[in-house]
Amino acid sequence: MSMDEQRVCRAPRGSVLNTKGWVQEAALRMLLNNLDPEVAEHPEQLVVYGGIGKAARNWESYDAIVRSLKALEDNETLLIQSGKPVAVFRTHCDAPRVLLANSNLVPAWANWSTFYELDQKGLMMYGQMTAGSWIYIGTQGIVQGTYETFAECARQHFGGSLQGTVTLSAGLGGMGGAQPLAVTMNGGVFIGIDVDRTRIEKRIQSRYCDVLAESLDEALALAEAARDAGQALSVGLLGNAAEVLPVMLSRGFVPDILTDQTSAHDPLNGYVPEGFTVAAAKQLRTQDPQGYIQLARKSIARHVEAMLELMQRGAVTFDYGNNIRQVAYDEGVKQAFDFPGFVPAYIRPQFCEGKGPFRWVALSGDPEDIYKTDAAILKAFPDNEGLQRWITLAQEKISFQGLPARICWLGYGERAKFGRIINDMVASGELSAPIVIGRDHLDAGSVASPNRETEAMCDGSDAVSDWPLLNALVNTAAGASWVSLHHGGGVGMGYSQHAGMVVVADGTKEAEARLERVLTSDPGMGVVRHADAGYPLAVETAKAQGIVMPMLAD
Ligand code: NAD
Repeated sequence: MSMDEQRVCRAPRGSVLNTKGWVQEAALRMLLNNLDPEVAEHPEQLVVYGGIGKAARNWESYDAIVRSLKALEDNETLLIQSGKPVAVFRTHCDAPRVLLANSNLVPAWANWSTFYELDQKGLMMYGQMTAGSWIYIGTQGIVQGTYETFAECARQHFGGSLQGTVTLSAGLGGMGGAQPLAVTMNGGVFIGIDVDRTRIEKRIQSRYCDVLAESLDEALALAEAARDAGQALSVGLLGNAAEVLPVMLSRGFVPDILTDQTSAHDPLNGYVPEGFTVAAAKQLRTQDPQGYIQLARKSIARHVEAMLELMQRGAVTFDYGNNIRQVAYDEGVKQAFDFPGFVPAYIRPQFCEGKGPFRWVALSGDPEDIYKTDAAILKAFPDNEGLQRWITLAQEKISFQGLPARICWLGYGERAKFGRIINDMVASGELSAPIVIGRDHLDAGSVASPNRETEAMCDGSDAVSDWPLLNALVNTAAGASWVSLHHGGGVGMGYSQHAGMVVVADGTKEAEARLERVLTSDPGMGVVRHADAGYPLAVETAKAQGIVMPMLAD
């Protein structure tokens, strides 16, 4: 093991600055927090989550970023090119302190083989979504979205609750690890297959998953008993999805709900082919990457074929944003797109109101700061039942990873209102240090991803990627603290372009103005993108909120 692999990153806590201002400090703490072993999946490789989603290109770049952030003045901006700091320019106080561009390739070259080649040469890194934009908060970041997705699925198909149902999925990694908790929070039983024992153990340790089963027999016995008793239970089943699903089929077991969150978007690094242990897969990956990719793609095809058959037999089946359908389709599974993606199936109406995963992090490191913001949000939105239920459940069920953080889905108008409340709480000293406010790139108006967020848009504009570019530009103009433009997140190279933003509430008047601008224009882009496409709810929202859209018909 090299020196680098032994490093342990942890964000500084408290209210003493290690930098020349709170915005720089926030960027420093969030970079370190992304790589905290409590937060990141493989911190020794700088990998935060989602296959090989990284926070910095290599340890040399990481050191240079840390040095640069410590030296950065309040009127300078640091530029990051795929995880490497490349320049510092004089800008101005209201400009972002950091601008990041990760994994972007010219469209005709935008594929995994070009990326792998450049990655090997040390010229790029894969930024995923919040890994390379320094606003990953551990699995909680995805829990609410996952919870809402299963809740909507329950409303559409099971009378509003998952009680008495079994959900089957695979992949208990950084994002997928939210599934067991999200299903049990909805009252259901969950079986999650993962080939890597350490991933299941990590979920059990962090209380996201209840038990580990060594065999399919054990998993089914546990799941069926809990289902029949109407109890919620989550089971992590050690196994390979491409092997287990066909066996389930042969036994005649049909789950009520079926999905998948292996990192199938990246066949080389994210999917273990059938017949391989994690260790053997690792070896083949380095010895024969092309051979590995072929085997992984074949297994993915078998996996999707089994999903299609289970769907035929009655399982409510959907793609959970990992591009598994596309990989299978390219391998000859022509029916792969017969099951829908989760966005058109369950999420799009929320996007029409500018809603999406909004998150905030206590830079103090003090959980009390988050509990105080929980109380504030409950008070600010007393009529939002879903939000009230979520915050209460989150307090009870979610362990913080790294810096204490919270997530919830807020829309246009609500985000600006809550941003101001938080800034006031910092200003009054009620909170012990500033708060970082950001969001996922999986969001209403900051992503173009035709197999996921923009799948089946009503005007056919799925592949138009002007929107994330405009989102990054308007957030920069509005004075976000850091802004990032990425390619390939979620679904892999060639399939998505998306932008991130983070804005710091440090209690100052300047921050108040920036928060108001950014937290209005950012969710506003979500409303505008969907209103422009013609979704009636988005059109209504734009009109009701007075968003100016020059060509929106009266
Ligand atoms: P991850 O790489 O941290 O975890 C993937 C997991 O899949 C690992 O634990 C791995 O052991 C397991 N796995 C790989 N091959 C397997 C196989 N054949 N059988 C069983 N288990 C296998 O990734 P993550 O962060 O959890 O993300 C998972 C996927 O979801 C990615 O494709 C990601 O892009 C996508 N994603 C979804 C959302 C969403 O909202 N649903 C959001 C972001 C990302």
